[in-house]
Amino acid sequence: PHGAASLAVEDLVAGYGDVLALDRVTISATAAGITAVLGANGAGKTTLLRAISGMVRPRRGRILLNGANQAGRSPEDMARAGITHVPEGHGVIAELTVEENLRLGMMSWPGMTSRRADRAAALAEAYERFRVLADRRRKLAASLSGGERQMLVIARALVARPRVLLLDEPSLGLAPRVMTQVMDMVMRLSKESGITTVLVEQNARAALAIADHGVVLNVGRVVAAADARTLAADVALRHHYLGF
Ligand code: ATP
Repeated sequence: PHGAASLAVEDLVAGYGDVLALDRVTISATAAGITAVLGANGAGKTTLLRAISGMVRPRRGRILLNGANQAGRSPEDMARAGITHVPEGHGVIAELTVEENLRLGMMSWPGMTSRRADRAAALAEAYERFRVLADRRRKLAASLSGGERQMLVIARALVARPRVLLLDEPSLGLAPRVMTQVMDMVMRLSKESGITTVLVEQNARAALAIADHGVVLNVGRVVAAADARTLAADVALRHHYLGF
């Protein structure tokens, strides 16, 4: 599926057994923009992405994709609806080449056997955008640096042609300079491809620097939601919830 999508979550309740991870969470993601989801460990950020991608079944509430409720659908259905989730620490497959890893991103395409030309075009597009991957397409992913691997993970998500991209901590474990490159890439993708991006980050400062809008969670509840500049300028909020 192509084109910018609007994503909204309303009154979402989700958890694990007795643990209530999300307690009536409502967020609205900027269509074709970046929405940062921030908050301390255990705030519920990862669970929010899991609920949106169908990996955790919501107990209550709605997940609206272009106005249509998707709550309760399977991860496969969510992927087919255009929601691509990159979980935290989601690695590349080291034993496969760069190109083989990229091809895995097309597995969710419907009718993949008949679309050879489309697949070639998607690969070409990815290589155009990620030059470093083009140069190494026949190399094993094991030979890539940490930053290059993260680029490959993002590129693999992109060849799925998502309308909504859910990124969980893409900067995790990267050196500051490399992290900046990854964040720049995420920003360009959203601007140039019109993908609606939900970015979960521990590094609130870096996330707000590229986001249009931000939501702050604390123990499963939304404590603040505003445009990114407003959040970044709120000294008390930064001090209490954002750690910068
Ligand atoms: P982190 O940055 O540490 O991943 P987070 O904001 O993403 O934090 P979640 O991972 O969504 O938070 O966790 C929300 C709550 O749900 C926490 O109390 C956590 O302990 C709990 N939790 C998360 N995953 C599970 C699970 N598989 N089983 C039981 N409880 C879980």
